[in-house]
Amino acid sequence: MYKIMTAGPSQVRENVRVARALETTNPDIDETFVEYYKSLCDKLQTLLHSSGTAYILDGEGILGLEAACATLTEEGDRVLVLDNGVFGKGFADFVSIYGGDPVLFSSDYRKPIDTDDLREFLEKDSGFKYATVVHCDTPSGMLNPIEKICPLLAEYGILTVVDAVASMFGMPINIDESKIDILCGGSQKALSAPPGLSMLWISDKAMDTMLSRKTPVASFYANLLTFRSYYEDKWFPYTMPISDINGLGVAIDNVIADPGIMERHAAVAKATRNAVKKAGMSTYVEGTHSNTVTVIEVPEGTTDKAILKHLKEKFGIMISPSFDVFAGRLIRIGHMGESANPQDVRQTLAALDDAFETEGVSLKCSLAKAFDEEFRCL
Ligand SMILES: *Cc1c(COP(=O)(O)O)cnc(C)c1O
Repeated sequence: MYKIMTAGPSQVRENVRVARALETTNPDIDETFVEYYKSLCDKLQTLLHSSGTAYILDGEGILGLEAACATLTEEGDRVLVLDNGVFGKGFADFVSIYGGDPVLFSSDYRKPIDTDDLREFLEKDSGFKYATVVHCDTPSGMLNPIEKICPLLAEYGILTVVDAVASMFGMPINIDESKIDILCGGSQKALSAPPGLSMLWISDKAMDTMLSRKTPVASFYANLLTFRSYYEDKWFPYTMPISDINGLGVAIDNVIADPGIMERHAAVAKATRNAVKKAGMSTYVEGTHSNTVTVIEVPEGTTDKAILKHLKEKFGIMISPSFDVFAGRLIRIGHMGESANPQDVRQTLAALDDAFETEGVSLKCSLAKAFDEEFRCL
């Protein structure tokens, strides 16, 4: 098996894998499952400080992004799409598919969204039903200040949809304090369960807006309103993937049992970023990085494919390339959830040292040694 150091999926702990193999009941009929599902949603709300509603949907993280847009958007709605990364821009497609009119607020892909610039824009045009923003835009490692952006949008009466798939449980998030209306999460990043589930946290305001639609939602699977009365009715809109949810429950408990999880992500990320810079390479983003991923600009004289192949074949370690506008330009080490541990990150950096040497790229210093020094100083 490979050591998974990709920017998601992340490593999965044995107790999560075992939970997915447990004997199962019929989740449609057995009310103990409904209670269990509700208890997980309650834990998710407590963890991210939400007084609204949380749901777990049967579908990879992308389903959550699509469901938020599907259920909020009506024909002709103007939606502000904050675009400083690949996932950021990608929201425009979901808005269009459901008949909305996406308006891009585009800015430098190397910099976090500037709230002063955003305020200036909103002073001239703020007629939007909702806005979309990505917390950690994983293809570049960008971290956007949602704790400033969402309250600013709320001042102008604009609801917010936040993609936190790659940041939640690796970066602190406070949904109520940050006035986030819909937060989207996935199972396979810092929560360290396998891919397959989306989680959504919905504010009362967003719920009221969705409930007062004039037209029906143009989807069944992506319609959040179908979950509205699951608990009262003991009835889900479709059969819940009980084994996936058993695994998710244990992954949530692993997070709860790990009060130092944020500090661990921060320490590993800082030491990794500093090691990359000390070695003379660029981490692409200027400003705030997410603590769940480190991005390295592919240096002259080699390719992303050659580096990834070397790591996989010689060391059994998988890291990620990037894609879309970053294809071929960036490689990415995921240190999220179970993968955010200094031993595995150090091994990955030592393997990268070997890969760069083989490729004839000379670094200013060893990545692994620089990581050791940085980590010791924290
Ligand atoms: C991983 C991720 C998703 C889910 O997308 P996949 O490419 O299907 O894994 C959504 N948003 C962000 C920011 C992500 O990092």
